[in-house]
Amino acid sequence: MEQSLVIIKPSGVQRNLIGKIIDRFQQKGLVISGLKMMKLSEELLREHYAHLVDRPFFPTLMKSMMATPVVVICLKGVDAVAVVRSMVGVTNARNAAPGTIRGDYGMSSQENIVHASDSPENGIIETNRFFKPEEIFDYTPVTISSTYSPDELNS
Ligand code: UDP
Ligand code: MG
Repeated sequence: MEQSLVIIKPSGVQRNLIGKIIDRFQQKGLVISGLKMMKLSEELLREHYAHLVDRPFFPTLMKSMMATPVVVICLKGVDAVAVVRSMVGVTNARNAAPGTIRGDYGMSSQENIVHASDSPENGIIETNRFFKPEEIFDYTPVTISSTYSPDELNS
């Protein structure tokens, strides 16, 4: 199964959305295999947002991501990366569709509530960046057989 790394950013933490956001992913059927609160260091963020260092908004993005602790979550599921991205919505929350997390809770392209991995490869890389191996749990919830067909589970 794929895994996706989600960060509830300081904008989501400040606005008391931690519970609502986790609830959406659980209700969908994604499995939480890692979950913790942490403060992001400049070093970790520079690695995570390495593709954005040259962008004009990079300094304010760094400051924004360190404003409060964040909640990091590893979600597992069939096609988890695409499913989570579609639940999160487009980067600029003002343009994000109603029903998505950014669309329902955000008004900004920077203060956009959550991060989600953008490819299966990055789902693995980012999970390893934010979690130690012993913080990730591999278990099968009893609900799995009513969440997927046997074919889907074996794919
Ligand atoms: N960002 C920003 N201004 C922009 C584009 C992005 O502040 O014009 C921030 C925003 O918080 C976004 C993050 O940089 O979530 C990472 O950008 P990316 O293009 O990877 O968007 P995402 O994958 O988060 O939708
Ligand atoms: Mg991105």
